Formats: sequence, structure tokens, C-alpha cells
Amino acid sequence: MREFKLFIDGQFVDAASDETYESVNPANREAVATVALGGPADVSRACEAAQRAFEGEWGAMTCADRSAILAKAADLIEARTDEFAQLETLDVGKPIAEATAIDVPAAVNYLRWYADVTDAAVGEHITIPNAAQIDFTLRQPYGVVGGIAPWNFPLFLAMLKIGPALAVGNAIVFKPASITPMSTVTVCECFAEAGLPAGALNVITGPGRSVGEALVTDPRVQMVSFTGSTEVGRRVIELSAGNITNVSMELGGKSPNIVFDDADFDQAVAGAVFGLLLNNGQNCIAGTRLLVQKGVYDDICAAVAAKLDSLRVGDPMAPETQLGAIVSQEQFDKVVGYIEIGREEGATVAAGGTVPEGDEFANGWFVRPTLLTGCTNAMRCSREEIFGPVLAAIPFEDEEDAIRIANDTEYGLGSGVFTTDADRAQRMVRALQSGTVYVNTFNQVYPQSPFPGWKQSGTGVERGVQGLLTYTRFKNVIWDISGEPIGWFG
Ligand code: NAD
Repeated sequence: MREFKLFIDGQFVDAASDETYESVNPANREAVATVALGGPADVSRACEAAQRAFEGEWGAMTCADRSAILAKAADLIEARTDEFAQLETLDVGKPIAEATAIDVPAAVNYLRWYADVTDAAVGEHITIPNAAQIDFTLRQPYGVVGGIAPWNFPLFLAMLKIGPALAVGNAIVFKPASITPMSTVTVCECFAEAGLPAGALNVITGPGRSVGEALVTDPRVQMVSFTGSTEVGRRVIELSAGNITNVSMELGGKSPNIVFDDADFDQAVAGAVFGLLLNNGQNCIAGTRLLVQKGVYDDICAAVAAKLDSLRVGDPMAPETQLGAIVSQEQFDKVVGYIEIGREEGATVAAGGTVPEGDEFANGWFVRPTLLTGCTNAMRCSREEIFGPVLAAIPFEDEEDAIRIANDTEYGLGSGVFTTDADRAQRMVRALQSGTVYVNTFNQVYPQSPFPGWKQSGTGVERGVQGLLTYTRFKNVIWDISGEPIGWFG
């Protein structure tokens, strides 16, 4: 069985406690690795190393130096695409085809983009009413930042934090989700080989309660970038009050995907299916509420149901598999539980709704992609984040009704609109209360595009140049060029 250690100060090391835990393959519940069980003492060592790196060799590097290291690391990850895809599939249960075609290339693509923008965190000149003084702003790195990520896209989400943090010159202590640590620990090899100075990147594996909390409350950590559930995000915000630590939050979602009766039928059906099923529905922005205008509701639901039923659920390592396993027992119980809740609330199971049968599914956490029809927005299956392959289809009357239902949620991460009417699309884009709006598409992401969360889906911005600035702090400079003393009391 493979062993994964902590990465502190440029070295792979055991946890201070010497303890380990096992990482399990969701497709068969077999242990695939032993992983160092980090704790507060390890976080403290990592923060110390990060502080040293920031005050030393790493902090002294130029934008060009940092750019070259990040670009080289991206090349090294790309060269190991198959290995990273396998680690991701073994840890998360996602299909190997998806891990190879989406997860690893996206991680490489984002890291390359961060390598290109190491000099993009620029300040500006401010016009003030005093010609004898110059006012300008600087954007500077925080020093040591903390990164905490969930389990759904481990390598990609690691690059979304490590990339911008390093690009602008911070050192980072990063905590992957405890159940999906393998790709993140392995990627440290690529950064070390690319020439990243010791301590600039540190990875501590272990539980959120100990590792995560120690990281958020360490006084050397000046900023924390957190991606995960709204519930844990709330806890991290509470903890950040102790040292008034800056926090950036990417949290949960329950995104509406809205289909008007003038939409292109095939485009809407494909958008509904992909909007739900990227990563088996274990995707923060997934369009898990399908709002369909009444005149086309039955036809759209029938076509979506047929498509869901046609998808190949199977062994994540098999190249032809389209939907793999659910990541853990806890998540499996949650998904199956919500299908049952939907039934009890009066929804009809129009597709899936069951666990697939057969030997290959016997020991894993598999669920068929599920469409619940006849839902209202008041039902729990329509309001609460399930984080699995379950779609709640809700009928609506007209534009006003669609906006009301779409915005009737505590979340505000994403929305989708399918229509051929550009005026309507413009009105919807402005009315929808979410950080991202897709028109006639869904689940598209680009390194250049910011990804803000509205309402309880987050604070601040990650990704894009705006997200790069999240990893910097602002300084204003006022510089007197008159050569005269301040005229205070004459
Ligand atoms: P989670 O909130 O349970 O865990 C996220 C991370 O926080 C993990 O590394 C976990 O170990 C750590 N953690 C747990 N308790 C902690 C604590 N007390 N202090 C500090 N850290 C702690 O989320 P999850 O189940 O891993 O992931 C699913 C969630 O992530 C969903 O809600 C999903 O919407 C969200 N998500 C959001 C985005 C986004 O960009 N908005 C992207 C991906 C996932």
C-alpha cells in the first residue's frame, strides 16, 4: 500500500504523533493508502517554515522567478497526467475518463495561467487635491496564507489556492480534505522538482477539526482561503475572529437551471444533464434545481430522464464509465436519504432513484443518477444541498415566477438560463442573485473568469485577476515631494 506523508519545509515527513490513517477507494471500500495523521504541532511547524520561506529566499524572488517555477511545476504535473488521474479516481471515485480529460488538464491549465500573471497584482495612482504629494497604492502578499479544500476536485482545487498564493509571492500551508489527500501530497514532488524553495508550500493531511482549526487560528497565518460547505465555512469565519484573520469563502450551492419554452430543446436537455452530472453531481455549482416552464415541462423532464437512465454507472477505473462512485459512506447515505425525503415529500422518481445491482457495485458507494419531478421549491430536496446526482425538477409559469423561485434560496453560487430570446436573457442575467450566471450553457470554468459566491455561497472572489488580488493586501502610500515641513500650527 502506498504511503503519503506531510510536506513541511521541502521534506516529506511523518506526523509529529507518528500516527497514520487509511484512504479508501469508494468503488470497493478497500484501503489504497496510509496517510500521515497531521495535527496542531505539524501545522505549527509548517507555519514556521512558511514564515521563514517568505522572509527568506522565496520572498526575495522576482515575479519572473516565481513565474518560471509555477510554469515548470505545471509541465511536470502534465507529464504525470495518467498518474494524477489514477490517484484522483482512486480517492474520489470519479471516472478515470473524467479525471484524465477534465481534472488534471484543468489543474495544469489554471497553474499555467497563474504562472503568466505573477506580475498582475498592480497598484494604482490616486488623484488627491494636493499637487505637492503623490498618492499610490500597492498590492503586497500577506506572507503566510492558509488553504483548506474539500474532496470533490482535490488536485484542481489545490491548484486554485496554491497557484494564486504563490503567484503573488505568499508562502502557503495547505490542507486537503482528509479523505482525498493523495494527489495533493504527490503534487508537492512537482513543485520541489520545479525549484520551489523549501517552506513556500507545505501540505498537512488530517481532520478539519484539528488540522483545519489549528491552521485558521495560527497567528502567523494572515489570510485563509476556504472552499467547502457553508456550515464549516461559518465555523472558519468564527475562528478567524480571534486574530482578525482575512478569509475568502467558496461555499455550497443549490443552483437553479432555468429552461424557458423558447429554449433550444437539445441544448436545454444537454445543459440540464451536464449541469447536474459533472463529477457525479458532487460539484458546488451543479444545477440541481431544474426550473422548467410549464408548456415544455413534461417533454424536457422525459428527455432528461431518458438521458440519465442511459448513462453508464460503473467501475471508475473502466475507461467507458460515465458515472463512478460516491466519495464516502457519509455522502452515500446523504444522497440516498435525500431521494427518500423527495419521495416522502411527494416527488415522483422519473429516473434512477436506486442503487445499481450487480457484483461490480456490491462493495462500493454507487447511486443511479436521479430525476425527481413534480417538485416545489419548498421541498427539502429542492432547498438543501445534496451534493450528489439528484435533480429536482420544478415547473414555473413565466419569467417573474422563474426569478422568484430561482432566488428563493439561501445560496447564490450559480444559475443557468436556457432561452433563445436575448432580451429575456439580459433581464434574467441581471435579476438572478448568484455570483455566476450561465446562458445556454452550464458548468463552464476558465482561469480568467472570477467565481464569486453571493449570499451564503461565499465572500470575496477567487479565480481570475480579481481572485488573484484576494491573495494580496492593499497598502496606500502618501509621499510628500514639496521638501517643506508639514505646516501644523503655522
Ligand atoms: P466540508 O466543509 O465538510 O470540508 C471542507 C474542508 O474543511 C475539508 O478539508 C475539511 O477537512 C475542512 N474542515 C472541516 N471542519 C473544519 C473546521 N472545523 N475547521 C477548519 N476546517 C475544517 O466540505 P466537503 O464535504 O469536503 O465538500 C463539499 C462542500 O464543498 C459542498 O458544500 C460544496 O458545495 C463545497 N464546495 C464549494 C466550492 C466553491 O467553489 N464554492 C467548490 C467545491 C466544493
